[in-house]
Amino acid sequence: LRPGSPDIEIARAVAMRPIMSLAEERLGIPHHALIPFGHYKAKLSLDYLATLADRPQGKLVLVTAISPTPAGEGKTTTSVGLGDAFNRLGMRTTTCLREPSLGPCFGMKGGATGGGRAQVVPMEDINLHFNGDFHAVTSAHNLLAALLDNHLHWGNALDIDPHQIVWKRAIDINDRALRHITIGLGGAANGLPREDGFDITVASEIMAILCLARDLGDLENRLGRIIVAYSRDGSPVTAHDLGAAGAMAVLLKDALQPNLVQSLEHNPAFIHGGPFGNIAHGCSSVMATRAALALSDVVVTEAGFGADLGAEKFIDIKCRQSGLSPDAAVLVCTLRALRFHGGADKTSWGMPNPEAMRQGFGNLRRHVDNLQRFGLSPIVAINTFDSDSREEIDLLQSMCAELGIQAVETSHWAHGGAGAMELAKALSERLEAGGAPHVRCLYPDMLPLIDKIRTLATELYGAADIALHPAAARRLQDFEEMGYGDLPVCIAKTQYSFSCDPQARGAPEGHRLDVREVRLSAGAGFVVAVCGDIMTMPGLPRQPAAMRMGLDDQGHVVGLA
Ligand code: ADP
Ligand code: MG
Repeated sequence: LRPGSPDIEIARAVAMRPIMSLAEERLGIPHHALIPFGHYKAKLSLDYLATLADRPQGKLVLVTAISPTPAGEGKTTTSVGLGDAFNRLGMRTTTCLREPSLGPCFGMKGGATGGGRAQVVPMEDINLHFNGDFHAVTSAHNLLAALLDNHLHWGNALDIDPHQIVWKRAIDINDRALRHITIGLGGAANGLPREDGFDITVASEIMAILCLARDLGDLENRLGRIIVAYSRDGSPVTAHDLGAAGAMAVLLKDALQPNLVQSLEHNPAFIHGGPFGNIAHGCSSVMATRAALALSDVVVTEAGFGADLGAEKFIDIKCRQSGLSPDAAVLVCTLRALRFHGGADKTSWGMPNPEAMRQGFGNLRRHVDNLQRFGLSPIVAINTFDSDSREEIDLLQSMCAELGIQAVETSHWAHGGAGAMELAKALSERLEAGGAPHVRCLYPDMLPLIDKIRTLATELYGAADIALHPAAARRLQDFEEMGYGDLPVCIAKTQYSFSCDPQARGAPEGHRLDVREVRLSAGAGFVVAVCGDIMTMPGLPRQPAAMRMGLDDQGHVVGLA
């Protein structure tokens, strides 16, 4: 391998171990408990999972990050490298990650299986069609949409108001032309004409449900609670009312089984579920986290976006609903992101610039303060790049030390687990000392929805207040009256800033969080507050990654980054 080889070549150069024997040797999983998908991927049976309920639980390490640049700062890579490092220390460790969406694979960001020497494999399979889970979510989503339109066609016994249908269609491809469409054209035999649209599959409420469900029963109940429309008298119409929940659960029963794969260093990883980080909670599944905790000493898991969104939702939504609680947290940062927050742009963020880094430090500091509000004192992982200068790394470490923040350098991208040993050791000391015994949610269930949003805005984002559009305020009132006031809120805002303006980098203060719209995800169990412009169906860039992809002479994928 040449230095600087693409991720896919690094991944392919490693001989994977058969997943059945790896599962048995490393996690003690018997063969009958696995459903193999070829030689290197398997699903864990739900029956076996049920037998793990009383096992002692491992320690849970949450990997989150400062506000990223559009390039991503290395949460996935760090989660994989850290898992490998813990295993090198002799601690039986499993990494839990989200499944990649095809949208970014063929669009801009590329795959989501880590990078360099810190990857999970088989990389192509995980990035594409992985064990059929996204297909299942897409199918269940569109089945519900079809049953809804069919109900309208056959007389609309539930008196659904066609202007108040809130369930769209889903596909796992970035396609801006599907954002707003008209369906049902062609006369009375071809459905009721109405406006509709597509969301990307990861934005489907079903993806969030899959990731929060405790078991099949809980899955079906949650599916039934999905609100698809409102009737003419304003009452919610659910998937249960349409008789859809059972069939949707049928489509999803296999998708609920966690997927087991391995890292480049042959350590186990569960890759399961992939909800959006904005209009959903952005974490891999509760099922996979629970399985991993029962089977390992340590579980490393990634939450989406920066800590203001990902870690917050991990605790306020995933942990609140599931009873999970992280024992330690890692805050990933890069010098390039700090330079970016200090004023450098895309053309210069890769170049040493201690002054910009110093300026951008406020972003890191705010994230550390925020995590402390949850009862977590993170260890900062400085994900180093070849171009980083010694001077800047030393400066960053001394700035952290002044505030009593432990910051360690990592080079897992270049060196695999060996590059994250210091981080693993620092964390294992914390875990041995008892971890984080007092992790708490930011707000109680009973707080009114509007005050939950305000709490997040003022306590985590540095906002002076929220600006709630009148229609959104009325809607929140409706949700309270409908009995959903005790749900947590899920803020959909840009990941690039603490505010809803992606250009406001660093640690902006005194701004107003502009809440344009609120949505109820009754099945997933949260109220979404849409702040700023949020896209639930991304578009493709001018030069999509898809245009660089193809197959070589042997039929291998090339150009998947
Ligand atoms: P996140 O999960 O935070 O979005 P990733 O771990 O996916 O970030 O990393 C984003 C991209 O940056 C990936 O393509 C990854 O290979 C690359 N990357 C991460 N860390 C490094 C590093 N230290 N040096 C070079 N490239 C890196
Ligand atoms: Mg990631």
